[in-house]
Amino acid sequence: MSEEIDWDSLTFSLTPTDTMYITDTDMNDAWMPGELIPYGDMKISPAAGVLNYGQGLFEGMKAYRTSKDRVVFFRPEENARRMQRGADRLKMPPVPESIFVDAVEQCVQANLRWLPPMGRGAMYVRPLLMGSGPILGVAPAPSYRFLVYVTPVGPYFKGGVKTIDLLISDIYHRAAPGGSGGVKAIGNYAPGMMPSKDAKAKGYAEIIYLDAETHTCIEEVGAANFFCVKDGVLYTPELTGTILPGITRDSIIQLARHAGIEVHETKVTAEFAMSADEAFCCGTAAVISPIGSITQGDVKATYGNGKPGPMTEKLYNHLVGIQNETEEDIFGWLHEVPL
Ligand SMILES: *Cc1c(COP(=O)(O)O)cnc(C)c1O
Repeated sequence: MSEEIDWDSLTFSLTPTDTMYITDTDMNDAWMPGELIPYGDMKISPAAGVLNYGQGLFEGMKAYRTSKDRVVFFRPEENARRMQRGADRLKMPPVPESIFVDAVEQCVQANLRWLPPMGRGAMYVRPLLMGSGPILGVAPAPSYRFLVYVTPVGPYFKGGVKTIDLLISDIYHRAAPGGSGGVKAIGNYAPGMMPSKDAKAKGYAEIIYLDAETHTCIEEVGAANFFCVKDGVLYTPELTGTILPGITRDSIIQLARHAGIEVHETKVTAEFAMSADEAFCCGTAAVISPIGSITQGDVKATYGNGKPGPMTEKLYNHLVGIQNETEEDIFGWLHEVPL
């Protein structure tokens, strides 16, 4: 238990920890609080709903130490609610918010030795909800498992924030109207791996997806939400069901409006975005990633000469300041983990 952890070598990758949380239920039973067990492989039926038909959801959140030496989560109730909405969509029994929040807290507490010091990274927390019981026909599984594991991750931007170069996909879409793009369904992610790898092989950091109906409006950047700034106004694609409602996205909208910035949740065409003054994408992993360029076919739009734009920087500093408790938590977003 006493081996030293080399915090500076952490990246955004999996480091096995000590303990994970599991609770199971049958289709029509209520969820009961689960238990902590040693982290490791688990037994599952080969006919499990999740393995055969992708009946599964994930969440992603971070716990970290603040400048006031507290350990906190950022808006964990929102992750709990998003998983409940996903459970409804995938016909799984929703995990009560109290069980969800208690589970993620217990996992952090039990693996505290893996929590990086302030500024050196965070504890990434991965809740999973899956159809674990056997089922042959395409139908909801008879039983379900809610599982939480944690892994320490390094700071997303080592050696300072870098801008990223993005490529608009002219072939692939992430989500279709009426589909599952608005929830964190596990099945949404494997189809993005090939386009993302292809873009990376061409030197881009990620792919940008346009909407599947008209192929004109920006939806998301890989698994992150998109924003752009034009003439001092902030724009982000409206939530129409094909875009994942990011908690970082929502927080940025609230912070911007609070700062008196005009925010439009609307259709954002690729053409408009490519004429914008600044662009960035956001999510729990990177918080905010400034975009240096967007390429579509043989047209390339560049922003800010390799540096984050002024509004991007201001929003980033404000959000990270709240998270680190160097700025006042005006919206009550921090949730302390009792130690
Ligand atoms: C998780 C996710 C996001 C970001 O959501 P956050 O709550 O901000 O972490 C954005 N897009 C997709 C597709 C996602 O899966």
